[in-house]
Amino acid sequence: MSATGTVSEPSLGMDSFDSFEDTLRRLREAFKAGQTRPVEFRVAQLQGLGHFLGANKQLLQDALAEDLGKSPFESDISEIILCQNEVDLAIKSLQTWMKDEPVATNLLTKLSSAFIRKEPFGLVIIIAPWNYPLNLMIMPLVGAIAAGNCVLLKPSEISKNTEKLAELLPQYLDQSCFAVVLGGPEETGQLLEHKFDYIFFTGSPRVGKIVMAAAAKHLTPITLELGGKNPCYVDDSCDPQTVANRVAWFRYFNAGQTCVAPDYILCSQEMQERLLPALQSAILRFYGDDPKTSPNLGRIINQKHFKRLQGLLGCGRVAIGGQSEESERYIAPTVLVDVQETDPVMQEEIFGPILPLLTVKNLEEAIDFINRREKPLALYAFSNNSRVNQVLDCTSSGGFGGNDGFLYLTLSAMPLGGI
Ligand code: NAD
Repeated sequence: MSATGTVSEPSLGMDSFDSFEDTLRRLREAFKAGQTRPVEFRVAQLQGLGHFLGANKQLLQDALAEDLGKSPFESDISEIILCQNEVDLAIKSLQTWMKDEPVATNLLTKLSSAFIRKEPFGLVIIIAPWNYPLNLMIMPLVGAIAAGNCVLLKPSEISKNTEKLAELLPQYLDQSCFAVVLGGPEETGQLLEHKFDYIFFTGSPRVGKIVMAAAAKHLTPITLELGGKNPCYVDDSCDPQTVANRVAWFRYFNAGQTCVAPDYILCSQEMQERLLPALQSAILRFYGDDPKTSPNLGRIINQKHFKRLQGLLGCGRVAIGGQSEESERYIAPTVLVDVQETDPVMQEEIFGPILPLLTVKNLEEAIDFINRREKPLALYAFSNNSRVNQVLDCTSSGGFGGNDGFLYLTLSAMPLGGI
């Protein structure tokens, strides 16, 4: 494990665990001394974060291209610009957010004032995943800084190029209050043996359970941003091309490696027949005749995930795409039909550019299908307003898109997370 205070500091390696403990001590002492509390300090750190994003924009785009084959456009809209917007919003809103909230008094307390004061937790750890490696590290960091915490950041070891750039971050921040540590599962496990005041974890449900168990040992409050399978219901009344354009964009964005991407479609047999040519046409329009040569289609993060996805291509029947090339970690935008609920592709979050279509007789059957599975992180419904509302009313999900994909995530005021 390495604990990085300055970028010039060499990687410390596993045998330097003591210096990692020094880092924790340093952050704790800074918090106890009240360093992170003044509004001016918080604003200066947020500005530093803004400088990090601005000064390293090209390097960040290159790293995201190396890690995930992201185009500059995708990197900008889903990582760099979103983070910058969050920084700007926090700077603009900080004074308001920090104000005490007055509470109405009653007869017994009429002569007193009552209020809610917001205080920082203390030392926060942010553990990030690889699929939006910048966004999912910086967004919670903005919140933690705005709230007056000291922060230890643990980027994903899998998105290696972005991880390297995360090491630059402390240069732009007060290094007595903010640090970056590097490491994989084993090192993160050791890290979590320590007591933090808040844990912010984004990643898989499997690791979420490990992190939650570690938090429970110290009764540490925790946020778990996990994954899952997000259904997408398409009604017979829809225009298939409009639906196909939207679903294809959100499914194949970042090569499908998006936690809130529509994971599978539920529609009637009749709609499936109309959707298939429409999806084919959307894929052609977005990625051309040979998607492998398109600069707009990302790549699978590593060989392990590539192999996992290749295995899923054997479920049902390939109606569109299905090609893959291991040396490039390329999987074509793919649509599967004749998929059964019991097939492997329906047991796990797909997290790749593969879209199964499952047929249902009607809306009620679709709702029943959705409700007998885990509550999804996101749910999508395409239909007229009353039917979209029926899906919204009769199901439970972390986020919901009516006649749209995950564009609601671009709204800063909209919460992100599962049930
Ligand atoms: P992951 O759970 O494998 O890893 C996440 C982080 O946990 C990494 O930093 C990793 O180093 C660390 N980690 C891995 N194993 C660990 C262990 N045994 N003990 C302690 N720490 C460990 O997740 P991932 O593969 O990086 O990311 C993909 C997952 O994240 C998907 O399930 C996706 O849906 C989910 N995700 C959720 C959101 C959201 O906002 N809800 C956003 C993006 C990704």
